[in-house]
Amino acid sequence: DRLITAQGSNDEERFDRAIRPKRLQDYVGQKELCLQMEIFIQAAVSRSEALDHVLIFGPPGLGKTTLANIVATEMNVNIRQTSGPVLDKAGDLAALLTNLQAHDVLFIDEIHRLSPAVEEVLYPAMEDYQIDIIIGEGPAARSIKLDLPPFTLVGATTRAGLLTSPLRDRFGIVQRLEFYSVEELSTIVRRSANMLNIIMDDAGANEIACRSRGTPRIANRLLRRVRDFAEVKGDGSVNQKVAQQALEMLKIDQHGFDMLDRKLLLAMIEHFQGGPVGLDTLAAAISEERGTVEDVLEPYLLQQGFIMRTPRGRVVTHKAYSHFGLQPPSQQPG
Ligand code: ADP
Repeated sequence: DRLITAQGSNDEERFDRAIRPKRLQDYVGQKELCLQMEIFIQAAVSRSEALDHVLIFGPPGLGKTTLANIVATEMNVNIRQTSGPVLDKAGDLAALLTNLQAHDVLFIDEIHRLSPAVEEVLYPAMEDYQIDIIIGEGPAARSIKLDLPPFTLVGATTRAGLLTSPLRDRFGIVQRLEFYSVEELSTIVRRSANMLNIIMDDAGANEIACRSRGTPRIANRLLRRVRDFAEVKGDGSVNQKVAQQALEMLKIDQHGFDMLDRKLLLAMIEHFQGGPVGLDTLAAAISEERGTVEDVLEPYLLQQGFIMRTPRGRVVTHKAYSHFGLQPPSQQPG
């Protein structure tokens, strides 16, 4: 079981709910985004209007769902949550929309996976707060327009490029989440440890933060694993040494790379002479789905400068070779 996956388990979700920030002031990092959202929300509240529709994009675990919930809390409205693949019939969306109250938030995760038929219903709903529904069948069928309460659609996606442009154009606010710095992750780890009554020093928090791939969900997940280790192998408190030992046991290296990251980099180096190699070929070489490589593995490796995207495919950089103590071939870019 991979430790650095995107999805959370049930147990993790329970733990997560306890430590998930509820207000904008508790949302660590993403300073510019927070500043903007604060102003947009205040303005909407003071005009007694629904907030404009918000599109949030960024790799898994960076806080899209958290932000959607915070928007609802700050607007003092309810949130309804669904996801692109779940909403497969236009009627399901219509039912959700007609049950909203004024200014409510409708959160659609993985919004890029909506079917075209459902998207069609969403356009007039977003634009005019109206939907057309078809009543009856065959020649007797007729379409009626229903008015909806003004609402806010919050859509989340791993990549903005996956959205159709008519859908993208209907969002007034578009926010991109960035990977978090070690300091920010350290703050998140310390905050979570506090809420879970874990005794931990700053060096311990920093050690976990360094190995969290810029991702709060991973930071919190590693914290749980380190706590287990500290309870079994020590007195339950976490310091740098305990954190290091736990993370080494989990085979997470000092860059936060796990087995799969290393497998990908090594496959590129050993089987493809460092690249360029196409995404599908690469995914097949490490027996992973293309989507996992593109959404989960690659963004962080790109951001950290271990791989690059070129028109002919992905290539590894010198940094990747030196990570494994290997000598890069002389013509290698990076
Ligand atoms: P996404 O929806 O982008 O996959 P989530 O919103 O589910 O990510 O975030 C994963 C977890 O990471 C959250 O439950 C929360 O505990 C933590 N988290 C995310 N963003 C932040 C943040 N800015 N500050 C503190 N904790 C965060």
